[in-house]
Amino acid sequence: MTASPFTGGTRVDVGGVPVSTDHYIGGERIGSTFTFADHSPLDWSVRLADVSRGDAAIADLAITAAVAAFPAWASLGAAGRAEVLHRLADLIDHHVPSLAAVECLDMAMLEESLRLRVLARGARNFRAYADLAVQYEERSWSSNGTANRVLRMPAGPTVVITPWNAPFMLSTWKCAPALAAGNTVVLKPAEWSPLSCSLLADLAHEAGMPAGVLNVVQGIGEEVGAALVADPRVKRISFTGSPETARHIGRAAADNIVPFTAELGGKGPFVVFADADLEAAARKAAGQYDDSGQVCLAGTRLLVQESVRDEFLSLFHGFADQHVLGDSREEATTISPMIHPEHLRRVSGFVERARDAGDNILRGGERSPLGGSDGLWYEPTLIQPRSNDSEVVQREIFGPVLTFQTFSDEADAIGLANSTPYGLSAIVYTSSQSRAERMGRALRAGTIWTNCFLIRDLTAPFGGCGISGIGREGGDYALDFYSDLKMFQVLDGTTE
Ligand code: NAD
Repeated sequence: MTASPFTGGTRVDVGGVPVSTDHYIGGERIGSTFTFADHSPLDWSVRLADVSRGDAAIADLAITAAVAAFPAWASLGAAGRAEVLHRLADLIDHHVPSLAAVECLDMAMLEESLRLRVLARGARNFRAYADLAVQYEERSWSSNGTANRVLRMPAGPTVVITPWNAPFMLSTWKCAPALAAGNTVVLKPAEWSPLSCSLLADLAHEAGMPAGVLNVVQGIGEEVGAALVADPRVKRISFTGSPETARHIGRAAADNIVPFTAELGGKGPFVVFADADLEAAARKAAGQYDDSGQVCLAGTRLLVQESVRDEFLSLFHGFADQHVLGDSREEATTISPMIHPEHLRRVSGFVERARDAGDNILRGGERSPLGGSDGLWYEPTLIQPRSNDSEVVQREIFGPVLTFQTFSDEADAIGLANSTPYGLSAIVYTSSQSRAERMGRALRAGTIWTNCFLIRDLTAPFGGCGISGIGREGGDYALDFYSDLKMFQVLDGTTE
């Protein structure tokens, strides 16, 4: 039997897995005097852990470790780094059951989808970027009497800040290209679901990642997060979260003139034309209530062609009725509780204001009685707004709340679809290839899915337009971001 990698520092038992509540800095577990409480959304009365609450001194320590580790990691080369990253990917695959148990208790994502899909994606992120970095072919050409090449140089210590939904997958999505490109990383996961990233540190340690290459600090965004992004030694900042936080981080990045990417919220249109496979469209649309709709890419604004309004709605309600609210560890459950009482209040606030303003609640609109007064479940909700200016149409809700509007023709659909300040994703259902082509070009979003949803190719560009983000990650786009591209010229005829 091999020894568990989950050892060292202060540990608490979470679903049978010993999880460190400390930071991981310079290859060691380090605690803070102050802590913050981490509860399980499955049962808010359960206090899972008291987690170290990092401050400016911890941020300084972590960046110092990342600075010290950078030269050796950068000079190891893409192939040397790939060996470590592949070992890490294998360890993630091996420990999926432990990771799933912890992530499910900590943020309540459905355990089955964590085991079958989401966590394996963490391993794929490391493999894909390790291989891409090795395969990089320098662009080379001759012009003006010189031989020219584009070199991709590691940029330096990188701060990665991630949100509470899908914390492990989203953190690996950013750490993997940063590390593969030769950067060292300080990762700060969100304070509402900090535990799976602590296990990522254990697995990196076990994989033989040199001390200081990947550091994980825990704490509150406005405290340790703000200190990390303000440090002038940081060469890249990669952020996923809300537009509000991105504005703060963008100011810190501007002060130090540091490139940053921001993957932010969404308010995607889900456009259904009369010529579409209505059953398939309705099934996908209602499937977006999974995980309580806490998915940035969701097509939360259903836009349906007027002529098929009733048929679509009847199919949609049929699929929505099949949802089962419950404990995310049980296979029958499709709707998990929301992450936090504060988030539940935020989501129900949107619905209450919509009701007061005269929007029509077509289904749901209430907190579920499940779990009693502490329960965090919200009924799958559909709202027909009184106008396109309604708050529920224009602002991200990030819960099990969809809106329903109709359109007359293609131009009307495009106008409504592009009418919010967001632009992360858009979903279109139509049987017409030419219409799909026109919609794909006309919709303002970083990703357009036609007759499908959430299919991802890791080499594709990923990011948002408008307030959904700045920059693109994915494939070579991410590796370029985490690198300093260098133009290298040699005068023709140079011999020594
Ligand atoms: P958030 O912006 O509140 O927090 C995100 C992270 O930023 C957390 O780790 C937090 O501690 C940290 N933070 C907060 N203030 C900070 C500061 N001043 N300096 C540095 N760090 C700070 O977002 P959230 O509520 O955790 O996540 C939900 C949001 O994330 C939604 O808007 C959702 O759409 C978005 N999201 C986007 C994507 C995407 O790929 N585009 C993916 C998942 C989630």
